[in-house]
Amino acid sequence: MKIEARCQTCDRVFLLSQIGPDSDAPGRCPFCGARFGRHYTGVLIESVPQAEASADDFIHALGKIQAMETGFQIDIEGFLRAVAEHVRDNESHRATG
Ligand SMILES: [Zn+2]
Repeated sequence: MKIEARCQTCDRVFLLSQIGPDSDAPGRCPFCGARFGRHYTGVLIESVPQAEASADDFIHALGKIQAMETGFQIDIEGFLRAVAEHVRDNESHRATG
């Protein structure tokens, strides 16, 4: 699953995969060349495909449950709200520097 981000230097939107290990300029903005996460470039670059693959795995796993005649219905809206809250909560734990 592709994840979009916005460069805080040039304000352009790009896909995280555009700064991943398979990109032309790993760890750099594809538009302005700004270097992202200067202090953690290696971890940042390797985390991009992990985050995208995990999103794919998550959707696939949920899809397996949804494909069954379970007799229940997943609360998708509630779940997506909780996911959004947790992801936003990550932002407040950001290391600065
Ligand atoms: Zn940029």
